Amino acid sequence: MLDFNVMSGAESDAPLEPVVTRHFIDGNFVDSADGSTTERVSPSHGVVVSRSARGGEAETEAAIAAARAAFDDGRWSRTSGKARATVLLRVADLIEKNVERFARIETLESGKPISQSRGEVGGAADLWRYAASLARTSHGDSHNSLGEDILGVVLKEPIGVVSMITPWNFPFWILSQKLPFALAAGCTCVVKPSEFTPSTTAMLADLLIEAGLPAGVCNIVLGYGQPVGSLMSSHPDVDMVTFTGSTAVGKLISETAADTLKKVALELGGKNPQVIFPDADIESAADAVTFGVYFNVGQCCNSSSRIIVHEDIADDFVARVVELSKKVVFGDPMNPDTQVGAIVTPEHNAKIDASVKAAVEAGAEVVLGGGPLDVPGLGNQFYQPTVIRGVTPDMAIARDEVFGPVLSVLTFREFEEAVRITNDATYGLSAGVWSENTHTCLDFARRAHAGTVWTNTWMDGFPEIAFGGMRQSGQGREIGRYGFEEFLGVKSLVMRIGRTREPWVNAS
Ligand code: NAD
Repeated sequence: MLDFNVMSGAESDAPLEPVVTRHFIDGNFVDSADGSTTERVSPSHGVVVSRSARGGEAETEAAIAAARAAFDDGRWSRTSGKARATVLLRVADLIEKNVERFARIETLESGKPISQSRGEVGGAADLWRYAASLARTSHGDSHNSLGEDILGVVLKEPIGVVSMITPWNFPFWILSQKLPFALAAGCTCVVKPSEFTPSTTAMLADLLIEAGLPAGVCNIVLGYGQPVGSLMSSHPDVDMVTFTGSTAVGKLISETAADTLKKVALELGGKNPQVIFPDADIESAADAVTFGVYFNVGQCCNSSSRIIVHEDIADDFVARVVELSKKVVFGDPMNPDTQVGAIVTPEHNAKIDASVKAAVEAGAEVVLGGGPLDVPGLGNQFYQPTVIRGVTPDMAIARDEVFGPVLSVLTFREFEEAVRITNDATYGLSAGVWSENTHTCLDFARRAHAGTVWTNTWMDGFPEIAFGGMRQSGQGREIGRYGFEEFLGVKSLVMRIGRTREPWVNAS
């Protein structure tokens, strides 16, 4: 008798033939010069799902050179916003036509449920459409009050060649938080997806060609952090690097980029709290906490991996979350009814388990789950929904990103204490607050050190709303107008009208 709601793999349809992908450089699909390839084994189905070219220095250099040439000759950077928007809108339409094909491979490479992949790939089209709107409406400032003989204009220009390095947890979505915005700004790009999930990024190249993006404007190199990502971060011909991934690699990228002082934008990890006050709508809060911790099997920068719940309601609240946790459908990601899929690698599954075991050793109590999950027909690269009580703010499980379906429960008595525990963190990505009193919510929202604060909801996001972190959760913003502006440089133009300037040199 299983304690959890598990979808077995009996009905699954694993792939027959692996997807084969190559680099996309200057408009051409190419293999690696040395012929290297990487295979991705599906975390849920244990079979090879894709075989991709594994890039080296030669491919990275070629991709950067193509992006540099395309930027400098103005084939994209000097086109009108209307022309750029037209291409981006076509890409959005093509994404929508290909949702099923992309979602299937996204699920098999990442282990996430197929319904979620469909939502992410289909939803990404809206990011491309929103970016298209920015391409047409972007403008700088004019200063017409500097005196009758002076006109000042502040121009916004594309920043140049942008390196984009993305993670495996939301491969197509995170790509779409970056690429259309950079293209809308007029930048040219070199993209490297995670070595675990290269296929949907590589498959986008076909859509870019069909949409009419000129060759060389977007180049894709497949491969690992070394040497590809590292060279993309250090290369003098790259003007900016935008990275989403772990805080440890983000720091390495900052160091690597420092030598050329290129702009660096980082979207990193989080240890995101939801704070539940006694007057909260408990049923809604419990559902949002359950969603927040298990969505993408907790492998989510926005995972609400810790809750800070008022002592008076803690027992009832945790009991409700445990009850709901047992109803969440874990298991075969290819089944449309599954809500939570597989863990990305066996090593990561072991790391999650080690974090849970360490919490128990530190004195915390596992009240649900606490070990790998066996899914009939698919093996045990899954993890049980796990709830841990008796967590104190000093424990590693309260501070470190576990990146698995593991909820840490902390408690508080006073508002000030809730704020203190929230802000006692190295991260500052997002936070949530649950109370029927809007004053409590607003007071908390203004004092939380987090790039996003949700009040009486969790993880609602929109292309219009900027996203990013404080502290070691990152720097810079993505999406929204602020995310778009990251890809723009500012140039000031000061113009004198007539010959009114006083000579500096007394020439007489
Ligand atoms: P990761 O840092 O291991 O890898 C991310 C990317 O960096 C991959 O493409 C990888 O090949 C590349 N890389 C590795 N070493 C590199 C190097 N030295 N130089 C350049 N590139 C290098 O992260 P991951 O395991 O793929 O993703 C999980 C992490 O991402 C988590 O910490 C999570 O919180 C974070 N994340 C953050 C956000 C956000 O928006 N804040 C979103 C999703 C994921």
